[in-house]
Amino acid sequence: MAVLKVDKLVKKYGDFTAAENVSIDVPSGTVCTLLGPSGCGKTTTLRCVAGLEQPDAGTIELDGRTLSAAQSGIFVPPESRGLGMVFQSYALWPHKTVFENLALGLRIAGKSRGEIADKIAEVLDVVGMEGSQKRHPAQLSGGQQQRVAVARALALEPKCLLFDEPLSNLDVLLRDRMRFEIREMLTSQAITALYVTHDQTEAMVISDMICVMNRGRIAGKGSPAELYDRPPTTFVAAFFGRTNLLPLDRAASRPEAGVVVTASGLALRSRDAGRLEALNGEASIAVRPEAIRITRDGQAGQFEARVQACAHLGPNTDIEVEAAGHHLSILIAGRRAYQPGERVHLSIDADDVMLITKDEA
Ligand code: ATP
Repeated sequence: MAVLKVDKLVKKYGDFTAAENVSIDVPSGTVCTLLGPSGCGKTTTLRCVAGLEQPDAGTIELDGRTLSAAQSGIFVPPESRGLGMVFQSYALWPHKTVFENLALGLRIAGKSRGEIADKIAEVLDVVGMEGSQKRHPAQLSGGQQQRVAVARALALEPKCLLFDEPLSNLDVLLRDRMRFEIREMLTSQAITALYVTHDQTEAMVISDMICVMNRGRIAGKGSPAELYDRPPTTFVAAFFGRTNLLPLDRAASRPEAGVVVTASGLALRSRDAGRLEALNGEASIAVRPEAIRITRDGQAGQFEARVQACAHLGPNTDIEVEAAGHHLSILIAGRRAYQPGERVHLSIDADDVMLITKDEA
């Protein structure tokens, strides 16, 4: 059973609909991430779950208890929802010690002095901050402050933790490490969490399930691998990892031969050719940059391209080419040098040539 269940949530600000028919199930002990570009409605959705915004329609349930049901006027206030929240800004009291920051909520919850001391020791241990009880936030790094903020949320034993871009204020290296730490902490404690980020890599590390949002709606949901390997729409394909999107010529394609054809006549064998008839609306051919093989010598099954640019990205090489009037990005492991203008040959496995429905304009 889903611990957190959001059903057909709608939130409007005046005439503007910030969240439209958003439905999410977060099973117990799993992490669900809302991922999407700025302004797509992630924070609005999270704030509705937290009780910081009042939805216009839809229901929100936690462990079978209704937290919000717009039509029947049910609205449980934030402090009574059994949720913990971790913000981008940490939101620690600067003049209080770590102990006092954590103790405040526990005192309000009516815990005894002994219970408070035990709980604080326990949660600081979980986040790797044991021994920091007497320090003030200013004496801690950004990453340490964020760990204390997580500990504070954990101390109240929430049924579900909500994270709003918790790593955005950290520098890149620390952010990379904290992703793994947060993931490890959430899974080891079997915590149910709803997590908001605009960072695709962060979402891939942290999540069991990702909901990609676009203009207030969920454009696609699934495990990180499912969304990457089988993106449901061109928006998801382009936002979740890089992808080459090529216009499809339906009439020229030959599903019976397993071949799809681009608008400029480039024929590619595709795993999805057989689905062509069933695909409603406009569709594109999509190929991930790392799925394209590049060689200098031509062989059967390859097509020609011309190099436009080539750049080393540390462990990878990024090559931009033009093939049959299409621009393609190619990513290969290791260092290889190609010169602009050089003729090369490309090949793509049928399994890596996807057909994807275009999002509505
Ligand atoms: P970001 O990553 O930039 O925080 P987001 O996906 O979290 O983006 P939201 O904060 O949910 O986006 O905002 C969604 C849309 O709703 C935006 O266009 C925003 O301007 C609008 N919006 C959010 N809060 C309000 C408000 N209180 N009043 C009016 N419009 C709002």
